Amino acid sequence: MKKRHLSMMLSRLKGFLNPKPELEQYRTPGDVAAELLWLADSMGDIGGKVVADLGAGTGVLSVGACLMGAEKVYAVEVDESALGIAGENARALGLKDCIEFLLMDVSEFNEAVDTVVMNPPFGSQSPHADRPFLRKAFEKGRIVYSIHLAKPEVRRFVEGFAVDNGFGITHRFSLPFEIPAQFPFHKKSIERIFVDVYRFEMLKRMGLRPISVPGRL
Ligand code: SAH
Repeated sequence: MKKRHLSMMLSRLKGFLNPKPELEQYRTPGDVAAELLWLADSMGDIGGKVVADLGAGTGVLSVGACLMGAEKVYAVEVDESALGIAGENARALGLKDCIEFLLMDVSEFNEAVDTVVMNPPFGSQSPHADRPFLRKAFEKGRIVYSIHLAKPEVRRFVEGFAVDNGFGITHRFSLPFEIPAQFPFHKKSIERIFVDVYRFEMLKRMGLRPISVPGRL
C-alpha cells in the first residue's frame, strides 16, 4: 500500500458523532495518522507486532495499524459510543478480528504489547490529561508513538517525562493538524495547529542508561 492510499482510507473512516469536549475527542486526520504509521512500519514496529492504541476514539490508528499488518491491536477507549464507531470502521474493512476493543480508562489497561500508538488528549480542556496516557504507554510498551502539541513547553515536558520513565526520543517531526469546527467554542471553520509526532524507545534498548533516576542504577 502507498502512504497516500493509507491516508485516504483513514480519512474516509467514520468520525465522532457527538464529540465530547471534556474527553478532547479530535480524530487524527488521515494524513497525520499515515505519517505516524508509515514511520512505525518502516522501523519494524507494526508488521507482525502486538500494538495498543490508547484513547482509540473512532479507531483511526487501530485500523491503520491493522492495515499495515499488525498481528493484533488493543483499542482502549473510555467512551462507549466512540468505541462503537471504531467497531463499525473495523468491520467495514474486514478487520474486526485484528482488533480487540477494550472499554476502559487507559489507566486500567494491563496487557503487554510491543508497540503503543496514540493521539492522547493534549490537555487543553483538562490540564495534564496527557499524563496517564504517557505513563501507561511507557509502562506497557517497548516502543511508543505519540502525538503532542508542537510547543516548547510541551516538548520540554515530554522529553523530561520520557527520560524519567526510562525512555528516549529517537524521532520527532512536526506536522500541520487540521481540526474542523466541532465545539461551540470553536470560532473558525477549520483550526490549523501544529503537532509533533514522537517515537520513543526504551533507553536500555538504545544502549543508554537512564540519566535522571540516580540511585537506581
Ligand atoms: N486516537 C483517536 C482519538 C483521539 S482523541 C484518533 O487518533 O483519532 C482522544 C481520545 O481519548 C478520545 O476518543 C477520548 O474519548 C479518549 N480518552 C480521553 N481520556 C481517556 C481516558 N482516561 N481513558 C481512555 N480514553 C480516553
